Formats: sequence, structure tokens, C-alpha cells
Amino acid sequence: MAIELLKGKFNFEHHSQYRAEELRKKIEPYLQKSKEIPSGLDLTEFYSLQKEKILHYFQATEKDWENWRWQIKNRITSVHTLSSIFPLTNQRLREIEEVGKIYRWAVSPYYLCLMDFENPEDPITLQGIPKIEELYDEYGEEDPMGEALTSPAPGITRRYPDRLIINVTNRCAMYCRHCQRRRNIGEIDRHQKKECLMAALDYIRANSEIRDVLITGGDALLLSDNMLDWILGEIHKIPHVEIKRLGTRVPVTLPMRITDNLLKILAKYPPIYINTQFNHPKEVTHEAKKAADRLISAGIVLGNQAVLLKGINNDPDVMKKLNHELLKIRVRPYYIFHAKNVKGTRHFIPPIQDGLNIMENLRGYTSGLAVPTYIINAPKGGGKTPILPQYLLSLDEEKAILRTWERKIISYENVM
Ligand code: SF4
Repeated sequence: MAIELLKGKFNFEHHSQYRAEELRKKIEPYLQKSKEIPSGLDLTEFYSLQKEKILHYFQATEKDWENWRWQIKNRITSVHTLSSIFPLTNQRLREIEEVGKIYRWAVSPYYLCLMDFENPEDPITLQGIPKIEELYDEYGEEDPMGEALTSPAPGITRRYPDRLIINVTNRCAMYCRHCQRRRNIGEIDRHQKKECLMAALDYIRANSEIRDVLITGGDALLLSDNMLDWILGEIHKIPHVEIKRLGTRVPVTLPMRITDNLLKILAKYPPIYINTQFNHPKEVTHEAKKAADRLISAGIVLGNQAVLLKGINNDPDVMKKLNHELLKIRVRPYYIFHAKNVKGTRHFIPPIQDGLNIMENLRGYTSGLAVPTYIINAPKGGGKTPILPQYLLSLDEEKAILRTWERKIISYENVM
């Protein structure tokens, strides 16, 4: 009855249509801009042409390409190989060579095929091929996270009360130019010795508050199937460990690593969560989707930990599109990490304002599922610190003053 009376004075339908139009206008600029942001799912033709060039250089077959060990064996690590596949200026080649003397570089043929060398700002090339700026950085630290200070047992990093990390290898499919653990990437790929892993497992067994174990490196999925089977099996037997997590970038850089045998192993030890690192929508390819589909079929839950990188994704529209593309392939955007001040990576670090601006432009403007948490890792092992735009303006015993995603100020009763 009350509603009927109200309806007489207020035209609900007119209001709803006005509001719907207002909401549509809020997203219009993004809809226009997103058309210009390439997604890997739309670049199939470009990627196959690139792949043909690479296969031709190696005189290799489609079967080789699908073999992850072939991909690792043929990682591109020299300017000679790179310039034989894709022509680059002498100046650029000299720069790569100079940086390579100090910081190792390697790119899987798969990730190389996503690179557009005609575009000097290509977000894939920037992540994989050295730039001379790496040598200009005088201020960065080797280990800003202080991982060496938070290692109570061999191979272990512990920064929180109920969970820890086991570092199993320093090996990766490629060596990302922005890598936060580049101090671990020496001249030689090496997996952690089995005795060291056994000591790490003993530490977990002896500490019954540890309910969550993250296996990472390097890249956890660069371990052999046998080693993964062994270590996952050992952790699975520890009664107080409730969940296992794997840190890996292979869905992005080496999707063919997700083999039938690997899936069989992973399926034996639920629950397993995998966090990966897509940083740009161009990385969300059909191959990455296939890898995600296969991991999900083995019961794995997938999340993404993007790193906020200047010139790659420090733009609200790029980050929104990345998160939309990830949800399409069932990878949940989980974190955006502010890049740490690691030596040789300063040119990738954007101001914190960029991260806040991204968060401001995600919340409300898109599904909550596409809104990860923006994190600054506190130095010296201080832990993940979430950074949010301010929505709570004041709070007392009677009310909270809030600011909505549309910047409307409202008073909200506080029921004590
Ligand atoms: S995959 Fe991860 S650990 Fe390996 S180089 Fe890239 S960022 Fe570093």
C-alpha cells in the first residue's frame, strides 16, 4: 500500500532508466579504450606467424614446440640467436649483450613468439628482453624483502604465523626482467638439493601451526615430475598441512608444461592452489587458456598475482582488461604487487599513486571478482600490506561517514 502511494508521486521506471543510462556513461571511456588494448586471445594470427619463424630457425616441428623440455632446451639466451630470428638494430643488440654480462637472460621460444619487436613499447618484449636501464640502477637492493632474515630452516622462508614457503629451485622458463628474486638466478640452473628439501620438510613436521605450504622458486613447475610427486606426496602426509600452493609462471611462459602426467600427479594431492603471474592481456593466449582449463580439470584452483610495472600495466584500463581476460579463462585476479626496489629493476617501478588510481577505477566499475588486492610488501620481511583508496572517512559510536565508489558521501548508522 505504501509503495503504491509512493508510486503515485515517483516514477520508478523513469528513475531506473535514467540511472541505467548514467551507469552506462561511466563505463563508456573504458569500452572505447579497451578496443585498443590487445588481448592474446585475439592475436592468434600474429602469434602463429611468429611461431613459424621460430620453428623455421630451429628446424623444429609442431611436436617439438609442444614438448616443454624442447622449449627449455632451446631457450633463447644469445643475441646471435635472437637477431637470426627477429632483426634488431646493432645498438639494441649491443645493449642486450652488455646487460647480459651482469644479469642473465633467457626466454622460452613460446614466450618469444608473443613479442612484437616492431613496437618499442611492447609489454611482452619489455618483460623478457634486457634493456640498458638495468645497468643504470644504483639504488636498488639485492634482497629488499629480507628473505635471508626470515629463513629458520634450509630452503624455507617464514614471514607469517601459519604458513611458509619452500624454495625448491632457481630455475624458470624465462628470466623476467622485473624479477624480484633475481639475486637467486645465478649462472647455473639448480634445483634445491634433496637433503635440503628433507630438512625443510622436517621443519614443517615439527611445527604443527603450519597449515599452508607454498612451493616456489624460481618456478615450482620447473621441477621434474618425479620430484614434484615426491615433495607433494611428503607434504600431503603431514596431518596439519591443510592446503598446498604452487608458485609458477608456466601458464604464462611455458603452457606446454601442463602435461597429462603432471595433471595426474597434481590430482593426487588436493587441495592445491596455483598462483601465477599474468601482467598484461597479451599474455592471455589460447595456449594459456588451454593450460588453465587442464589445471582446473585436475581440481586446481587458479589465481593471479600481477606485478604493477611501469610501461606495462600501470594503467587502469590495461589492468581492468587484464582482469577481465583472466576471468574469461577462470583465473581469479588475486593480488597486484607493487614492484619492489630490486637492483636493476628501478625503471619498472611506478609511483604508488598509479596503484591507488587503478584500485579506484576497478572497485564499483567492474565485478568484485575482477578486483584484486593491491599490496606493498613491507621491507625486511614485514609482510604484505594492503593499500586501498579511502572509503571510510570517519567512524564513531553512532555513525560511519563513507565515500562510495562514485565519490558520494553518505552517513551510515553504526548499530552498537
Ligand atoms: S618466473 Fe618468477 S621467479 Fe622466475 S624470473 Fe619470472 S618473476 Fe622471477
